[in-house]
Amino acid sequence: METRTKNITKTDIAVIGAGPVGLFMVFEAGFLGYKCAVIDSLPHIGGQLSALYPEKPIYDIPGYPSVLAGDIVEKLAEQGEPFDPQYILGNPVSELTEQKDGSFIVGTATDEIHCKVVIIAAGMGVFTPRRPPLENLADYENTSVFYSVQKKAQFEGKSIVIAGGGDSAVDWAVELANSAKHIHVIHRRNSFRAAEETVRQMRELEAACKVTVHAPAQLSELHGKDGQLEQVVIADLEGNKTELEADNLLCFFGMSPALGPINDWNIDLAGKKIAVEASTMQTTRPGILAIGDITDYPGKLDLILTGFAEGAIAAKTAQGIIDPDKKFKLVYTTSKGVPAA
Ligand SMILES: Cc1cc2nc3c(=O)[nH]c(=O)nc-3n(C[C@H](O)[C@H](O)[C@H](O)COP(=O)(O)OP(=O)(O)OC[C@H]3O[C@@H](n4cnc5c(N)ncnc54)[C@H](O)[C@@H]3O)c2cc1C
Repeated sequence: METRTKNITKTDIAVIGAGPVGLFMVFEAGFLGYKCAVIDSLPHIGGQLSALYPEKPIYDIPGYPSVLAGDIVEKLAEQGEPFDPQYILGNPVSELTEQKDGSFIVGTATDEIHCKVVIIAAGMGVFTPRRPPLENLADYENTSVFYSVQKKAQFEGKSIVIAGGGDSAVDWAVELANSAKHIHVIHRRNSFRAAEETVRQMRELEAACKVTVHAPAQLSELHGKDGQLEQVVIADLEGNKTELEADNLLCFFGMSPALGPINDWNIDLAGKKIAVEASTMQTTRPGILAIGDITDYPGKLDLILTGFAEGAIAAKTAQGIIDPDKKFKLVYTTSKGVPAA
């Protein structure tokens, strides 16, 4: 029987999740002198920011009145670079084993990360987009059918069908309307679960004939050839069908995130999140901390800036675990500086 050997990495801290919060953890841990390996199931860093809205501006990152999500990811990676993190991407963490000495082995299909502390920054968990139940969907996925917008320019001059009724669907309808040939928005209800202001903007674009809203309606068939979509057929509640010219279909039915293996790690959960003690970011299992969207505690806000602060607290807790005899001293970056990248 063939036995595959795994790549072995030895590090101080294994950070599960390379979203913005996991990326900033590299800095906070590094500043205290600890190395991180950051593992993500996605093939790229950035978590939700890269997977869901890389080209959308964020307005509540302190010090940046407006910054594109993709640019924040780049800057976070740059900020962590002096601390020489190891990124292990493209496979979910599936195993976590505690050693006799209290250290851990975190495992993916290809890698084993030996570490003293585990920090779970897994956001919504391993997320995969919800797919519409269309017969030949797979023929068009990643060529004409997408579940996120990675490059806006790709959709310039295109006829686009956007399916969904939440923030992502409405945001992208508004965002792409001026550069696309035409946008059809398909939603199975008449009302949208999106920010009022953005829905208003979408309705304005509808009045200007840049967007057509079909609601209530749902996707029925896809037609095209060699992965290139040509038509999307939609159906109303009575089953009446309408053919729409379409180069692309963007489906925003949300993600179905799954805690997956985290469920089996003997950590107390709060619903689909991990219960932590907010003053330490410690989970109910010693040596395993959690930060970012995955956490729950009284007053928790699922915001990037909250996650950054949690990273600073987690670094302090990690120091207490790795170097229990060392007294934590808050040092300003302005006093100590950081190593050159
Ligand atoms: C459309 C949209 C707009 C938003 N706008 C804002 C905004 O303006 N301001 C703001 O503050 N927040 C905003 N948010 C929320 C923000 O994106 C989240 O708060 C942030 O991404 C949380 O970061 P995180 O690092 O905790 O988790 P995530 O970004 O979710 O990253 C978690 C990572 O962990 C990985 N992962 C999970 N489980 C595993 C596993 N078992 N093994 C390996 N990897 C794993 C996932 O693949 C993912 O990459 C927005 C969210 C959306 C969807």
